[in-house]
Parts: sequence; C-alpha cells; structure tokens
Amino acid sequence: CGVFGIFQHEKAPELTYFALIALQHRGQEAAGMAVMSVDGMHSHKGLGLVSDVFANGELSELSGVNAIGHVRYSTAGENTIQNAQPITVATHRHHLAIAHNGNLVNARQLRIGLELEGSLFQSTSDTEVIAHLIARSGEEEMVSAVESALQDISGGFALVMLTDDQLIAARDPFGLRPLVLGELDGSYCLASETCALETIGARYLRDIEPGELITIQSDGIISRRFAEPRQRRMCTFEYIYFARPDSDIDGYNVHAVRKKLGKILAERHPADGDIVIGVPDSSISAASGFAEASKIPFEMGLIKNKYIARTFIQPSQELRDMGVRMKLNAVRGIVDGKRVVLIDDSIVRGTTIRRIVQLLRNAGATEVHLRISSPPYKNPCHYGIDTATRRQLIAATHSVEEICREVGADSLEYMTVEELMEAFQFTGPHEHAPFCNACFTGRYPTDLPDQEKDKAGT
Ligand code: 5GP
Ligand code: SF4
Ligand code: MG
Repeated sequence: CGVFGIFQHEKAPELTYFALIALQHRGQEAAGMAVMSVDGMHSHKGLGLVSDVFANGELSELSGVNAIGHVRYSTAGENTIQNAQPITVATHRHHLAIAHNGNLVNARQLRIGLELEGSLFQSTSDTEVIAHLIARSGEEEMVSAVESALQDISGGFALVMLTDDQLIAARDPFGLRPLVLGELDGSYCLASETCALETIGARYLRDIEPGELITIQSDGIISRRFAEPRQRRMCTFEYIYFARPDSDIDGYNVHAVRKKLGKILAERHPADGDIVIGVPDSSISAASGFAEASKIPFEMGLIKNKYIARTFIQPSQELRDMGVRMKLNAVRGIVDGKRVVLIDDSIVRGTTIRRIVQLLRNAGATEVHLRISSPPYKNPCHYGIDTATRRQLIAATHSVEEICREVGADSLEYMTVEELMEAFQFTGPHEHAPFCNACFTGRYPTDLPDQEKDKAGT
C-alpha cells in the first residue's frame, strides 16, 4: 500500500490526490482520503484506481487543510469497500483517521482479545485493530493513545493518522516499510516514497526512523520513540520490485540499486547472448546494468501496454493469466533470430515469466537465458508485500533446474543473498545486514504469533 498525509496546506485534498497518483504503483485495489474540516472529519474511498475513485467531483466536496490518503493492495483482508482506507473512527472525544502500509503479525491475536472484551469489528483488515487499540487505550492525549497502541502491535507498518488537530506518523521498530517526511510551502507532509513528494513539489526532509513516532501540530513537530532502537530491517523487496525507481529509500536510490543488481548479475552469473531485454517496467533498470557490465546491447524487446494495472494485483489466477497477455508484447523485429538474455526482478508464482519466455520464442528468439535480479523467493512475506502462500511460490517447491524447465528457459540463474547485499555496499554476513531478506532466507525479523497459532490449531 501507499500512504500520504499533509498538514495545514490550503490545497490539502488536491495535493493528497496527486500524491496518491504518484503512489498508485503501491496498490490499485482501492483508494481513499480523509480530510479534517471545520465541521468534522470527512472521507471518501472506493475500489479501483485513484482517478476512478475520485472521478465524479468527490474531491471538490472534501475541504480542509489537513488530509491523509491511501492506496490499497490487499495483504490482510479481502478487497472490499469495508477494507478500503483511511479507516475513520469517532470516539466521544476525538476524530481519528488511519492509513496503514504494511501488515501486522499479531493482528488476529489482538483481535480475538478485543472481541472477547466486547469490540465489534466492521472489516477484516488489520488496520481496524489499531483503531480499536487507540480508542480503548484510556489515555487522555491522542498521541499517548497512539503510543500505547503502537506498543501492542508487531509487524511491518508505516502509519499516517489524522486527528482533530494533528497529523501523526509512525514507522515500525525494524523500519520494514518506508516513510518519509517532506515540506511544501512551510507545511509538513508524509509519504511512503519520495516520488510522491517530488510530484507535488515538496522538499524531502528525511526518512522517518524505525520506531519513531512523529506528531505534527500547529505549533510544530515533535518526534519521540515508541520502541527501543533495533537492528534496522528495511525490506529489500521495495528496492528489487515494489518501489518506483525515482524514489530514494533510506538513502539509496531505487533505480541505482536495481542497476547495481544487474551489474552484479552480469559479473557473477554471465550469459551468452546477442541482446539483453528487461521485463518492463520494474526490470528495466537491472537490465540496463546487466547490459552495461556485459557489453551486450540493451534492447526494448518487450513492450508493455501502459493502461493495464499490475498483474499481481488481480485477485484470481485466471485474471492474472489473461492480464499477462494483454500487458506485454514481444517485438519481432528486435528478437527474431537472436539469443536473448532476459532479466526479471523476481519469480513469485512463475506464471508471468513462463508466458514471457513463450512470447519471446514465438517472436523468433533462438535462445532465452533468464537471469533474476534477486534470490529465489521461497518464503511468504508477513509484512505487507506479498499475497502468495508458500504453496504458490514456485521456488519453495522447485529447484532452480526445475524452475528453468517449468518456465521454458534455456538457462536460469538467480543471485545470492550475499550478492544482493553487495548492491548496498554491505559485505559482512547477510544476517547482520540492516535489511529484511526473509522471503529469501526464511529468517523473519519478528516473531509470527498469528502463524504460530495457525500451526497450533491444525
Ligand atoms: P509471477 O512469478 O508470480 O507470475 O510474477 C512475478 C512477477 O510479478 C515479477 O516479475 C514481479 O515484477 C511482479 N510482481 C508484481 N507484484 C508482486 C508482488 O507483490 N510480489 C512479487 N514478489 N512480485 C510481484
Ligand atoms: Fe520485504 Fe521480503 Fe521482508 Fe517481506 S519478507 S518485508 S518482501 S524483504
Ligand atoms: Mg516483473
């Protein structure tokens, strides 16, 4: 998901809208906005793209100088309007709206406890658990209530919250999900990625620290820690696939990291070929790095239809399969008679790449050598990126050789976790790197209480 918030700006709703468009790649299932105006909290949300959700003048009905917004990609809870965000609640004292990127690993446990104590839930989303914890904390001050809730939750989260007179933000203690602070015309804003700041003309100030809780109010900004500093565990998959290449996360530019990954691939996992092709859009940076380092020419051998949303987001396998066909086309004039080195950022289920290899062969490619700019994706993410279960992950159940055969490539190589860490200039044992690599290594930085419960229950 993607989150955004802005405080005391006369164009708050419009700026939130444009920022959400810049974050659209982070989720296409639902979008929404909450605005605090003189007569209370107003919100609008719906299923689909930002431009669809606000297609009928809904934006002009939202007025106010403080706003937050959300684009959704469902990891916990189904894709229903009830699960769209921001979530808004009114207690007898306060209004509160919450936008959450990430996934909690103890939401189910907390929810069971809350229900036993009488809480009624309207959605299946883990974010509503946070709302209940805040509402029930018994603290006078809103920020203390938030702080108390943050102490109960565990997992990956970047939270942006709107109260009657504050904008509050928090990043989980490991820094699994990204969140940045910016400034525009003297107003503070918060966003999942720097590309949203740049889109609205805001200046990047800094990344929110892991375990940091920020309160922005009319007399300024207050920063505090709600958790002890931990070893930082920024999600590497944000760099590999999820984030936009023009964004910087924790000091690393996403495109530069991808390009470096391509270079490392070319050096350690070379391939003989006539041309290098990247799967658009997310693998173009890595392919350019591979081409530069291998001195094999980079070509646009696959063209993407820009008007089709990311296939992964399609809820069923059938729709995903069709999505791939509508989305990509191989260029015969470039590919015909060539040995192709094909770069992709990741293989999750294996569906996409199998089709792409087939497209290239149909367009005349004589050989297809597949190189992946990440290690084998073997373990489900519990922190807000992936929806696949272990059973669906092709690398969890197949060897590299079997995957190669399964997707129909002539050769297949992945990079190692150590090589991945080198792209961040980290050369020690990867266990000590300030990154989460759990989907590759199975070493999750947090306990997984909801998962443990599953095992115990079966
Ligand atoms: P699959 O192997 O599941 O057919 O698709 C993998 C491709 O989907 C990769 O090329 C990657 O660029 C893209 N992708 C889209 N969304 C996601 C996601 O949430 N997680 C992962 N791992 N890959 C995704
Ligand atoms: Fe990112 Fe993978 Fe860790 Fe999930 S498990 S937070 S996708 S690195
Ligand atoms: Mg891809």
